[in-house]
Amino acid sequence: MQTVVIVGGVAGGASCAARLRRQREDMRIVVIEKGPYVSFANCGLPYFVGNVIEDESSLLVTDPKTLRDRFNIDVRTEHEVIGIHRPQRRLTVRRGSDGSTYELYYDKLVLSPGARPIRPPLPGMDLPGIFSIRTVPDSRHIKEWIEQRRVKRAVVIGGGFIGLEMAENLVRRGIDVTVVERDAQVMPPLDPEMTIPLGQELESRGVRLVLGDSVSGFEERDGALVIRTAKERELAAELVIVAIGVQPESELASECGLETGPRGHVLVNGNLCTSDRDIYAIGDAIEVRHVVTGKKTALPLAGPANRQGRIVADMIAGRGRHFRGVQGTAVCGIFGLTAALTGANEKTLRATDLDYGAVYAHPNDHVSYYPGASAIFLKLLYDKSNGRILGAQAVGKSGVERRIDVIAMAIQMHATVFDLEEAELCYAPQYGAAKDPVNMIGMIGANVMRGDLTITPWQDVQQNGAVVLDVRDDDEVACKPISGEIHIPLNQLRQRLHELPKDKPIQICCAVGARAYTASRLLIQHGFDASLLSGGAETWFCVEKRN
Ligand code: FAD
Repeated sequence: MQTVVIVGGVAGGASCAARLRRQREDMRIVVIEKGPYVSFANCGLPYFVGNVIEDESSLLVTDPKTLRDRFNIDVRTEHEVIGIHRPQRRLTVRRGSDGSTYELYYDKLVLSPGARPIRPPLPGMDLPGIFSIRTVPDSRHIKEWIEQRRVKRAVVIGGGFIGLEMAENLVRRGIDVTVVERDAQVMPPLDPEMTIPLGQELESRGVRLVLGDSVSGFEERDGALVIRTAKERELAAELVIVAIGVQPESELASECGLETGPRGHVLVNGNLCTSDRDIYAIGDAIEVRHVVTGKKTALPLAGPANRQGRIVADMIAGRGRHFRGVQGTAVCGIFGLTAALTGANEKTLRATDLDYGAVYAHPNDHVSYYPGASAIFLKLLYDKSNGRILGAQAVGKSGVERRIDVIAMAIQMHATVFDLEEAELCYAPQYGAAKDPVNMIGMIGANVMRGDLTITPWQDVQQNGAVVLDVRDDDEVACKPISGEIHIPLNQLRQRLHELPKDKPIQICCAVGARAYTASRLLIQHGFDASLLSGGAETWFCVEKRN
């Protein structure tokens, strides 16, 4: 009987084990997990700290007994693989209970050891009260600390997904939260202008943002932690959460000579096989290919880990499978807002030789006449040569993840802006619009591709002698003026064309882009050099604030 050993029994490992058993009754499957639990919900941990998830046991998706009874999988929790001896296909495993070790033979080995939070060697890093969050015990310890120390102030280091989820959940616990982020924006995977509403939301909920600064050390003073930053700030708190990213748990792999990448990730081929044909690797520990840029990257998210687990199970079961790569689809809730993205962002595209275009829209999540509509700030990136969709980002109160999921699937299918324009999506008043936001952003891109519309990139506003024409109504302009513009409301434009210069580029702006499009069609047909500022004043304000 063949023995398959899986190292790591959570997202990738557990999914691989269960799938393999469904394929093959004739294999011995052993899962070695160094922690106390298998298959727990890492993604739920911040919400457990915030008491949204009240019962710790709800975080445990399954347990060793169920895996044994239902799948005949030999699950060994609190056992750690400490050595891989490839020539003999043997592992050295240490029992957590007494530290004793034993040897375990494998025919095929799957590594799904995940990634651990980065904890830089800063002065005072080991002081009590400075936590990272990866496991159920981590979140339990944070909760205990909050309760025992009656925590009033917390500093979260890192403004990415986990940092912001922790910030929200600490606020839920009545704690004053400061987020320190080295970048000049929160949520670094988004383009900077897309994060402006997130920053506003965080600040409106009382979260203090310290951007463009990094923590340089910690000390204890008067019973509190003092967090020092590179820009010589001092922040006092009873609790610190370090959420500045993760690093792959790849020491086992590198020590036994498996190939690893520049940042320590295990290298795998398209079948997720390492440089040893009997060893597969999956999840946060591996380097993967980005389907849009074609570049090597790492994407520590649950979706890829689970899908890779399935693929490797199929490979071991004798079915040829191939991992397509990742595209970075992700979502995060930040108080009342949702931010989601898929594909490449503009920051990444700038570093490629792709000639891309960016269009923005602010459509409502559902028709405005049905109560409760709210705008989605939507950005689409596409290849100017053929309209292929390269990436999308969205921020809003509602309906955000649905639109990004549709576009994510479109990217997988190599779809173009013309496909989004034509996409047939659900519509009833409470859910969307007959022209869904996905259609809208596709139509804008398709208009550009067909030459009906020219977009001025935001960095070129008022450049090369261009004048900005604002076609909003008087009351809108009074509320939110734009600097240095000619103002002619759209409904008067046809009668006032003589006020516009024919010898200068005209960049047209309205509130969100729809009226500017109509204006640009009018001006182009009258011989003006007219282009559109995509996403209108709503985008303008975000772009300006980003600078
Ligand atoms: P893991 O699930 O981390 O499992 C690896 C396991 O291997 C660990 O339990 C570890 O103890 C064990 N192990 C390591 N080395 C050994 C060894 N030598 N011997 C035995 N066992 C070993 N992703 C999302 O997509 N959406 C989210 O909302 C989201 N939220 C998250 C929130 C938090 C707080 C965290 C920490 C992660 C979140 N993630 C989220 C990321 C997601 O959980 C991971 O991408 C996913 O769990 C990776 O799966 P994996 O199998 O590679 O590693």
